[in-house]
Amino acid sequence: MTTHQNLEVLSSPAAIASQLAKVRQHIAEAAMAAGRAPGSVRLLAVSKTFGADAVIEAVQSGQTAFGENYIQEAVEKIQALRQWLAEPAQSGQAALEWHCIGPIQSNKTRLVAEHFDWVQSVDRLKIAQRLSEQRPADLPPLQICLQVNIDGGANKSGVSPEDVLALAQVVSSLPRLVLRGLMAIPEPAPDHASARAVHARTAALMAQINAAGGLSQPLDTLSMGMSADLAPAIAAGSTMVRVGTAIFGGRG
Ligand SMILES: *Cc1c(COP(=O)(O)O)cnc(C)c1O
Repeated sequence: MTTHQNLEVLSSPAAIASQLAKVRQHIAEAAMAAGRAPGSVRLLAVSKTFGADAVIEAVQSGQTAFGENYIQEAVEKIQALRQWLAEPAQSGQAALEWHCIGPIQSNKTRLVAEHFDWVQSVDRLKIAQRLSEQRPADLPPLQICLQVNIDGGANKSGVSPEDVLALAQVVSSLPRLVLRGLMAIPEPAPDHASARAVHARTAALMAQINAAGGLSQPLDTLSMGMSADLAPAIAAGSTMVRVGTAIFGGRG
C-alpha cells in the first residue's frame, strides 16, 4: 500500500508546510530569473494518491488550488474537504479550486462537471460537449485547458499541435465552458535548454491560437511545468505549474 506509506511518512504538517515554502521560493526565483513577476505563475498542488489530511495541511499553509487525476478518488476528497470547510473553525478560509488533470472517460464526465472548477485534460470534442451539457446550472462555467501532445508521444493523451486550433475554436463556443488555455506534459528532457525549448513550442502554439482569433476570449493560461521542470517551464512562459512530488513527496 504505497498510498498509505506516503501518508505515514509525508503528511506531517511540518513536512508539507516546508516543502510548499520551498516550491514557492523556487517558483519566485525562476520567475525573477526570467524577468517575470513572481505572482505571474500560479501553483497547482497535485494531491493525487494523497489523502484529505495532506490536502488540509497544504490548505493550512495557504494553498487553495489542487490538481487531481483519478476522478473517483478526487470526488471523495473534494467532498471531505467541503465538509471540513463547513466546520465553524474554518469560517475564514478561502474557497478551494479543484482542477482535473487526468484522462477522462466519457462515463466520468458528469462527475467531473459536477465537482471540479477546472478541467485541464480535454483533448477531444466529445468530452468537451458532455462537460458543457452536464455542468450544473447553479455552478459557474467550467474553466478549460486543452491538453496538447506537444512532443508527439505515440501513446500519450492530448490533441496534436496541428488539430488544436480547430478544437479550440469549437470548444470556445460551448455555453457552459470557458476555454482558458493549453496544458502539456512533455517527456522528461535531459537538460534545462531542451526542456525550455519544448515548453516554448506550447507557448508559441497558444500565441498562434490567439492570433487566429475566433475565440470567445483570448487564452491566458499556459499550464506547464511539474516538480522536475518548473524552471524551464517558467522561463518559457508558464502561468501555472502543477507540482505533486516536491510538495507531498513520492507516490511510490
Ligand atoms: C502527477 C502529475 C503532475 C505532478 O507531477 P510531479 O512530478 O509529482 O510534480 C503534474 N501534472 C500532471 C498532469 C500529473 O499527472
